[in-house]
Amino acid sequence: MVQKYDYDLFVMGAGSGGVRASRVAAQLGARVAVAEERYLGGTCVNVGCIPKKLLVYASEFSDAFAEAAGFGWAVGASRFDWRALIANKDKEIARLNGVYERLLTNAGVTIIDGRATLDDAHAVTIGSKRITAKHILVAVGGWPAALSIPGAELAISSNEAFHLQTMPERVIIVGGGYIGVEFAGVFRGLGAEVTLVHRGDLFLRGFDDDLRAALAGEMEKRGVALRFGTLLERIEKRGSGVRATLSNGEAIDAALVMLATGRKPNTHGLGLESAGVKLDGAGAIVVDRYSRTSVENIFAVGDVTDRRNLTPVAIAEGRAAAETMFGKRAMAVDYDNVPSAVFSHPPLATVGLTEMEARARFGAVEIYKSDFRPLKHTLSGRDERTLMKLVVEPKSDRVLGCHMLGADAGEIIQGLAVALQCGATKRQFDATIGIHPTAAEEFVTMREKAAS
Ligand code: NDP
Repeated sequence: MVQKYDYDLFVMGAGSGGVRASRVAAQLGARVAVAEERYLGGTCVNVGCIPKKLLVYASEFSDAFAEAAGFGWAVGASRFDWRALIANKDKEIARLNGVYERLLTNAGVTIIDGRATLDDAHAVTIGSKRITAKHILVAVGGWPAALSIPGAELAISSNEAFHLQTMPERVIIVGGGYIGVEFAGVFRGLGAEVTLVHRGDLFLRGFDDDLRAALAGEMEKRGVALRFGTLLERIEKRGSGVRATLSNGEAIDAALVMLATGRKPNTHGLGLESAGVKLDGAGAIVVDRYSRTSVENIFAVGDVTDRRNLTPVAIAEGRAAAETMFGKRAMAVDYDNVPSAVFSHPPLATVGLTEMEARARFGAVEIYKSDFRPLKHTLSGRDERTLMKLVVEPKSDRVLGCHMLGADAGEIIQGLAVALQCGATKRQFDATIGIHPTAAEEFVTMREKAAS
């Protein structure tokens, strides 16, 4: 049979969303090609979640060394080697790039190296090659947004932070989102002096206010200097480093300034306009609940659509889009109860509604809180507290939100996300037996309502 198109699906971008969509489509019998201009696995694998978590692990050892004495250990002088960490991290990322390559080729997907641009709704160009496809999926992700201030070109983004030649002794981080907060903890844990500059009153906008405030306190205890309500005004070169001038008049000399002021959809120069794909005001691709763009046969998933910019969400969107294109029925992603974690020191994790969101939606809500010193820190000497919070809808008794700041928060909240997805009530939480002694058991033993 003569095929009308070269492929049934052409995927632009082999990141979390693109790879999942390619594999699912191929399993459903589609002839699939995926083009990648940079690295297999995309942001998450190369300059995001995975290397970030490895750096977070590295930064936690200083805590462990400091806390060991309380448990009877005498730890000798420790020394940290940044180059060794980065080399080991790079080796692991290269291994993962290989895993992704095999996943795709074993699924029968053709991998094409290079940048693809759209010619029209059914054709792309890569280098001198023109390829046609019945469906096209745009999954090209996002890219760090720069600030337009004097000297911005002297700053780095998280992309470069993963490849620094030396460990900076003094760092200024601008931005109070996931990336700014996580990197502040990483550099501080590795021994740097860190100043975090954020334009708002408190960082991590959108998270529960009690946890945001508690994390600010914990970071200050660890020696991160927080500058809220402050802007970075300019950066100048100073010797081998830089001088950053802030809107509060402060001038700080540092080895580097890192901007973590958000990420932008990577839609520029992709030829989207030639195919008639609509963008929103911020440059993100507009899609419906099935990730279909304004053009019938073109879909888009992940950060390029700027919905919930999280790897597991992009993966879910990729799978759903492939099912919609080649499966038996259209599939949409459920964005309720998407859990997420900030890998700060200590980590923060959340699922469901914050107290403020719940009040706005339901009026009266019941709040349960537990704020305690973790058992480990009775001997470690560390003055760190754990905070847990449940938001409950009084009429139905449903738990609307679970929030935690403390060790293993991400691991704990993932389990509770299942409970919320099942519509668990506070009574069912209470009827669950705890595991003793854990921090997690507090979530099933909170009996006293917090004063509203
Ligand atoms: P975020 O959008 O989370 O945060 C950006 C921060 O920069 C906010 O504090 C914002 O302030 C501030 N900001 C934005 N523009 C300016 C400006 N012009 N001047 C000063 N400050 C500014 O972006 P990130 O870069 O932290 O992360 C990008 C995305 O990556 C996130 O949305 C997240 O989905 C994902 N991610 C997820 C992680 C995880 O799940 N653990 C880890 C890392 C990233 P304001 O709040 O006032 O807008």
